[in-house]
Amino acid sequence: MQDNPSDRDALQAILDFHVEAGVDLALDETPHNRFAEPKAEPAPARASEPQREPVRAAPAAPAPRSLPRAAASAPEEVAGLAREQARHAGSLEELEAILARFEGCALKVSAKNLAFADGNPEGRVMLVGEAPGADEDRIGKPFMGRSGQLLDRMLAAIGLDRSQVYVANIVPWRPPGNRTPTPQEIAICKPFIARQIELAGPEFLLCLGGPATQNLLGVKDGILRTRGRWFPYRTEDGREIRALPTLHPAYLLRQPLQKRLGWRDFQALRRALDGQD
Ligand code: URA
Repeated sequence: MQDNPSDRDALQAILDFHVEAGVDLALDETPHNRFAEPKAEPAPARASEPQREPVRAAPAAPAPRSLPRAAASAPEEVAGLAREQARHAGSLEELEAILARFEGCALKVSAKNLAFADGNPEGRVMLVGEAPGADEDRIGKPFMGRSGQLLDRMLAAIGLDRSQVYVANIVPWRPPGNRTPTPQEIAICKPFIARQIELAGPEFLLCLGGPATQNLLGVKDGILRTRGRWFPYRTEDGREIRALPTLHPAYLLRQPLQKRLGWRDFQALRRALDGQD
């Protein structure tokens, strides 16, 4: 079959159709008709689920409740459990371990890897983007692909590199086909990024793009209105971090003329780092 060019063309056309429709990874070798399958058993009561190994935690913290399967629970319930689990992490290492075991976000099922963080958690600046893409998913770290390369060039332009900044995303698993994470997925993952920021404790937070800005800073305006203005970001333990929204590097790759706005924002960050703003 492979030797016949017209068969190859037909196969290529089917493949192109799937890629365009957002199907960019294979989960199984054989197709399944999920509609023909019997209804799933009701989810077991949480108490009867096998207990997870308790995570090393701050001494006074209660053991985390185990999580129901992602699909079986209401998003608010899962978000509540995510908050409880995130609060339980006493260090970034513990937080990553908790996230790696967290079953509450359906994105984990299709993702290859958890892309928790890159860079230096001791850095004065933390950058938060939206969600991993294909390269980040493969490597298991944020901002590894073309957006990451542009980000590195912008950082270099103000004298920074990844050994001096800490990088993460509001959602640590890749949404299939690089779609935007849904509000539910973001709500479920938000306690983890909030705790990650709290534990890293940067002096400055750079929010990359609209979703990171709106979800971390609670602003409704679009990124073109908010970028370049300083906002207070409050951690749960009451610290205030200066936060600067800026345009997402993926947007700048698509709209290169807007790079001048991104450049202004990075210069504002440089001035703040130098104590001039
Ligand atoms: N875009 C993001 O928002 N995060 C990444 O890690 C990569 C691309």
